[in-house]
Amino acid sequence: MKDWEQNIRRVVPYTPGEQPNKPKMIKLNTNENPYPPAPGVAEALHSMDADRLRLYPDPTAGSLVAAIAADQGLSPEQVFVGVGSDDVLAMCFLTFFNSDKPILFPDITYSFYDVWADVFRIPYETQPLDENFDIVPGDYYRENGGVIFPNPNAPTGVECPQADIEDILCHNRDVIVIVDEAYVDFGAKSALSLLEKYDNLIVVQTFSKSRSLAGMRIGYAMASPELIRYLNDVKYSFNSYTMDQTALAAGVASLADRPYFEETTRWIIATRERTKEKLRALGFSFRDSRSNFIFASHERCPARELFEALRASDIYVRYFDKPRIDNYLRITVGTDEEMEVLIAFLEKYLAS
Ligand SMILES: *Cc1c(COP(=O)(O)O)cnc(C)c1O
Repeated sequence: MKDWEQNIRRVVPYTPGEQPNKPKMIKLNTNENPYPPAPGVAEALHSMDADRLRLYPDPTAGSLVAAIAADQGLSPEQVFVGVGSDDVLAMCFLTFFNSDKPILFPDITYSFYDVWADVFRIPYETQPLDENFDIVPGDYYRENGGVIFPNPNAPTGVECPQADIEDILCHNRDVIVIVDEAYVDFGAKSALSLLEKYDNLIVVQTFSKSRSLAGMRIGYAMASPELIRYLNDVKYSFNSYTMDQTALAAGVASLADRPYFEETTRWIIATRERTKEKLRALGFSFRDSRSNFIFASHERCPARELFEALRASDIYVRYFDKPRIDNYLRITVGTDEEMEVLIAFLEKYLAS
């Protein structure tokens, strides 16, 4: 071993879903939105002046922060933006999870949480979801250095009832509780209304899923002005110019078109409900997803086999080879046409 090797920060990185690029593929593996961003986003991009790129972007991302605050009924002092919610969540871990006590999150959850904990050397303990994949609030009563969970949870799609979230908040008044709402726009209830009551709550959302802007990288946190100040202090100690000029313009344009946002999320919810019926008829079971994906297990055919068979036909879904969930497929809700191809394939495959 070389001397310098002992000084290296070694991490096992997060594995993103694959991004194949085949002409006729059906891509249902990374929870992207099948519809384009609001038309105003393309207009904003076309009207960008390349000469302005000489200049640094606004370090406060003021235009985007103001637009998000207006959209959510908050003051700009309650909003922090970052390069996707992954960046926002990483900044939250760095800022708020500095205790010697372990932070707590579910055993089945977004697989970036343990990676951030490791890279920032934050102790953590996972709490098992019950056999129905529900969070058990009582598991989060113990002493800890902070709590984080997605709602709806990933990759299960299961919504945590508002009363349970409030119960967890009540029992954790002396630590920060982060609710990661990456999928909340697909029919779940946001914890945002609890911000007034709980100054230890942070709600994180993203433009990647419901606003069709995964490629633009925009996420945000909402919390008390005090917590947002702490987040900004860490951000400015790391990288002042996180949001580039393009992202600022695209984000503002997306928020300007609420009817389009509501219409496309309605379409996805309708397609999800139709797909659930068809999957059920084929012998799949799943909890009632409130997200833009369905986490399903077949009564007969192993998930891994289905995953491989689908992949060989250029239909991409996500499979996690992990305890408790290794017989499930996470299927992103695409367009009706895409879901019809998926269902037709499954009908044929499962009949043979
Ligand atoms: C997709 C996702 C994110 C990250 O999204 P960004 O593209 O970085 O905004 C965060 N949390 C969960 C649970 C997700 O599924």
